[in-house]
Amino acid sequence: MDASDRLRPVLRSFEPYDPAFSPCRVNLSANENTHELPAEVRSAIGAAFRATPLNRYPDPMANALRDALAARHGVSRERICVGNGGDELLFNLLFAFGGPERTLVTCPPDFAEYANFAAMCETPVTGVWRDAEDFSIDGDALVAAARDAALVILTSPNNPTGDLVDRALVERLLAETDALVLVDEAYVEFAPEGSSVVDLVATNPRLMVLRTLSKAFGLAGLRVGYLVANPAVVDALGAVRQIYSVDVVAQAVALAAVETRSALAPVISDIVSERERLIAGLANLAGVRTWPSATNFVLARVPRAAEVRRRLRDEHSVLVRDFSSAPGLEGCLRLSVGTRDENDALLDALATILREEA
Ligand code: PMP
Repeated sequence: MDASDRLRPVLRSFEPYDPAFSPCRVNLSANENTHELPAEVRSAIGAAFRATPLNRYPDPMANALRDALAARHGVSRERICVGNGGDELLFNLLFAFGGPERTLVTCPPDFAEYANFAAMCETPVTGVWRDAEDFSIDGDALVAAARDAALVILTSPNNPTGDLVDRALVERLLAETDALVLVDEAYVEFAPEGSSVVDLVATNPRLMVLRTLSKAFGLAGLRVGYLVANPAVVDALGAVRQIYSVDVVAQAVALAAVETRSALAPVISDIVSERERLIAGLANLAGVRTWPSATNFVLARVPRAAEVRRRLRDEHSVLVRDFSSAPGLEGCLRLSVGTRDENDALLDALATILREEA
């Protein structure tokens, strides 16, 4: 008997997350922000880093950062819970509010970690599958499933399909069910103004909104995400979290980034216009289908997708994400929006490969 035999049975099918990362000249595989941060943000981050003593434990309440985030959203500190990336908060939500007797409802295809964390927390999942053609959500089916659920997760805009969830659907779920509703807005800064439902948190104690500094803020390596929620939810999550999961550097750097966030506007608008240029470029390639996107990535259905993805990597040093064998995403690749040069490299390489494959 080795140690793996002693693992809790529910965890035995899990394997270490290894994206088999291949170093590529152009990495458009993980929806990171590929743009350089503005000088004002970089210098604020550098100063914050240099001023941070590492011999002291972090503030487990992360109050300075929570105050800045609370100010960003016009709420009080009690409504903000920070985490080691959005991932930690998603796990803690399932840990705190899931379990064998409570169902999670999701709308796949969506972010794979929801189902993984639910499985780890022995939480049954009901998937209300999106339309196979346009990825829309059947509101009636969702509300019906949510009537028996403890928790619903909606992703707006969704990864990997790129579309927003209707605000009216979120309101309807809150009005017609007793479920806790999490709206994951990891990518919302790339969506049109007014797309967020964060303003509904103040009047809906069962609504939670997830945000991250990994995307628009360009700080995926820092690992900071946060939840805007009712104070009772924030307290519940505060009670079960690893007390120092957001370290001193992460708190200080995140605070500097949040305080200088207005300088990020040109980066975000460049990514949005590059996204539209990428979609237009893809439309010129025979056999490629795309969907509208409110994010920093584009989902594209490509002939012989897995082979095209392999050739992009091996022959052109361009890395994209392969979803071609994922249920509901057959033949699809997910292309993160890069800089102008990176997007040109991707489009040129794709055009070459598709011409040769035809
Ligand atoms: N939600 C969605 C929809 C995501 O795509 C991601 C990251 N890919 C996350 C949450 C988590 O991001 P992070 O842990 O970097 O904050």
